[in-house]
Amino acid sequence: MHDHTLEVHGAHAYDSTGAISQPIYLSSTFRHPGFGKSTGYDYGRVGNPTRDALEKTIARLEKGDRSWAVSSGMAAINLVLILFDPGDHVLLSEDLYGGTVRLANEIYGHYGIDFEYVDTTDLALLESRVRPNTRAIFIETPSNPMMFITDIAAASEIAHKAGAFLVVDNTFLSPHFQKPLTLGADMVVHSGTKYLCGHNDVIAGFLVVKDGSSKEAQRLEMLVKSEGPNMSSMDAWLMLRSLKTLGIRVERQAQTALSIAHWLREHPQVTEVHYPGLPDSPGYEVQKKQASGNGGMLSFKVTSAELAKSMLERLKLIAFAESLGGVESLLTYPIAQTHAEMPKELLARTGLDDKLLRFSVGLEDKEDLIEDLKQALEV
Ligand code: PLP
Repeated sequence: MHDHTLEVHGAHAYDSTGAISQPIYLSSTFRHPGFGKSTGYDYGRVGNPTRDALEKTIARLEKGDRSWAVSSGMAAINLVLILFDPGDHVLLSEDLYGGTVRLANEIYGHYGIDFEYVDTTDLALLESRVRPNTRAIFIETPSNPMMFITDIAAASEIAHKAGAFLVVDNTFLSPHFQKPLTLGADMVVHSGTKYLCGHNDVIAGFLVVKDGSSKEAQRLEMLVKSEGPNMSSMDAWLMLRSLKTLGIRVERQAQTALSIAHWLREHPQVTEVHYPGLPDSPGYEVQKKQASGNGGMLSFKVTSAELAKSMLERLKLIAFAESLGGVESLLTYPIAQTHAEMPKELLARTGLDDKLLRFSVGLEDKEDLIEDLKQALEV
């Protein structure tokens, strides 16, 4: 089945009523038909039919074996980091969502896990940092917020040669545009809050594994059951509803983002535009090879920090807010918001500074978005 069809139909199995919309099962527990017998559902933390339908749908979209729907993107990333043991070494992209860096450094770092940040777009550098105790490589591509592109197939080869596994945070492109598991990655994580939800109204996360029988997948099954990070059935239903329009949303957002990237480039107050769909952007060729679209995220720098800050206050249509991937366009100031707690050294390495703004392009008409940017950039 092709992507749009899968997004609309997912893993929906019709029940005896023929309901077209997946029913929401709000029951926290399930009656046993007899002693030692089960309907397949016993207790809501372990399994819920609405959540199951969503997990199967996401696994199908990402071409994985198994997925877990959890309460946030951070809950999904936490499930990955909890797999590591003291003494393990983990390589991560140096441009990364700030919350992932905080979780690694401030929480798991204290348990003796060694997290090292590296420019994963430089494959020779990435390979040179692998150690005998490297357990995994964790990348974002495109990265948040600098839009750096890492070659997923090459990174997976480096990981596998070292006996490690590759995790890709696929939040920015969604499976509609990029399927890391088909390129060699072993796990995919998502902030489902973003494009998969698409309406700025659910906090959600997903973890998908390529091989449901791997030792990591077995452990994840036990961890989810024991720790209970699961998504509620109401949120699972909202996510199923959102997924039906994933493709048409992100295709239109990508089209508008490309037009806006071209427009921003010509603006005298804009000094840099980062969008992987611009033919002269550094990751363009790799992006073209591994993704079928470039997404609705872009970042740009203006001539001064003062202009960046004052621009946020002049916006009329675009909201100054922290998040991305929804139908409403949002402008974020990463240095003070999403990446406020990022170590200074990493910011300096990636070029994330106080002149950078991150734009999540929504579904509004591009003329209206450009008009708003234009008036907000006027000095
Ligand atoms: N990964 C990326 C790329 C993100 O941008 C975010 C949040 O902005 C997260 C993970 C964390 O997701 P959540 O906010 O759903 O916990």
